[in-house]
Amino acid sequence: MTDVHIRDARVVTPDGVQRGEIVISDGAIDAVGPASSVPTPSEPDTVIDADGMVALPGAIDGHTHMHDDELFPDGIDFASQTASAVAGGVTTVIELPTQKPVTTPDAVRKKAETCAALAYVDFGLVAGNIQDPEINVAGIMDAGTADFKTFTADPYLASDESIARLMRRVGDAGGTVRVHCETQGLLDDARSTIASDEPEAYMDSRPLEAELDAISRAGYFAEYADCPLHVVHISSGSGTREADRFKSRANVPVTLETCPQYLAFSKADVAEKGPFLKVNPSLKSDTERERLWDAVQDGTIDLVATDHFPTYRDSRAAGWEDIWEPYAGLPGVETMVEFLASEGVHEDRISWPRLHELVCAAPARKAGIYPRKGSLQVGTDADVMLIRTEEYEVSAEDHTFVGGWTPYEGRHWNARVDTVIAGGEIVAKDHEVRSTAGRGQFLHRPL
Ligand SMILES: [Zn+2]
Repeated sequence: MTDVHIRDARVVTPDGVQRGEIVISDGAIDAVGPASSVPTPSEPDTVIDADGMVALPGAIDGHTHMHDDELFPDGIDFASQTASAVAGGVTTVIELPTQKPVTTPDAVRKKAETCAALAYVDFGLVAGNIQDPEINVAGIMDAGTADFKTFTADPYLASDESIARLMRRVGDAGGTVRVHCETQGLLDDARSTIASDEPEAYMDSRPLEAELDAISRAGYFAEYADCPLHVVHISSGSGTREADRFKSRANVPVTLETCPQYLAFSKADVAEKGPFLKVNPSLKSDTERERLWDAVQDGTIDLVATDHFPTYRDSRAAGWEDIWEPYAGLPGVETMVEFLASEGVHEDRISWPRLHELVCAAPARKAGIYPRKGSLQVGTDADVMLIRTEEYEVSAEDHTFVGGWTPYEGRHWNARVDTVIAGGEIVAKDHEVRSTAGRGQFLHRPL
């Protein structure tokens, strides 16, 4: 029984882009390839004439904070945020709850259950933020995640000894540790020199050297502990170079992540966008931003994720008066693919296969769910997105849910997520979600 027959798409694979067809049956890819090699299915439920649209696997956002708790009682929860994900072509997210961190096997199981009832997309969980290294590592892995997060900075600052011990224990057990890299001592000293409440002051309070120092130390810690390391949200080209040393030095896998906001914006944009660019780590110079693009192009950066953290427009706008007041973090899950396709591929900074690697294949491998997710191969999950070329001006109004704002407001883009398929069903069309909460499933992923 064929669910969907996609015709005349430009299908992206790791090797290139090829005109072809995709046939989906029973929620899985049944056939993919040039029209001449794909038998025409009889009586498919749905035929999509892609008319040359670009077809990619559904994206995996390996770093989100969707917030299903008391912090934002109205509207921002795992349902609205995963709906926003699916509208933007993201069919899998790896979620890290921050307000009530999951640090026990029971908490992982409960969180998986709560999220599954609300999820529009398939999801995995990250255990963290870990401050006490004496957690039940094996139990947490049994409960469904081998991915542990720790911090070198407030509000989840862990001591050096705790990070070393956590890495040793997780490394022994076969898991991975992801680290937020900014050295708190440097942040504290920088803050002590600043009296201003202006938005620019926030950027000055989180200097580049805090990231460089913490990345370097996380690298040596991982090397010492024989623990696979994932460096999240690298905000600078220099930070990437610092981290890259450990890919060859350490005897363990080291993977590097950046986020769209560090490629799209620099400190210079804060004058105009103010609190709507308040994010941790902070934005760096234009030179660092350009070097980060180089690292995305040449493969030093392994994957792009969003660090998605939604807030409401009004509460964020309070930061014009006092930048220390609102929460830091940006909504980004719905715009990640369109940003990379528009400002990356269309601007000739990256190719379609590189985009495929950054948001499909690499995050799926990192999460231990490849090739089931992140590839268009026969037998894999039928998570597919179609992207059409169209000039438009970005507006929060055109999105499913971004809390009433997006930092990309007013940018001119030319790639738009047209149709999103998950598990063989059309779940979104032109940013309109056609799915329901609870259709997403928990991905038990002991790596
Ligand atoms: Zn984060």
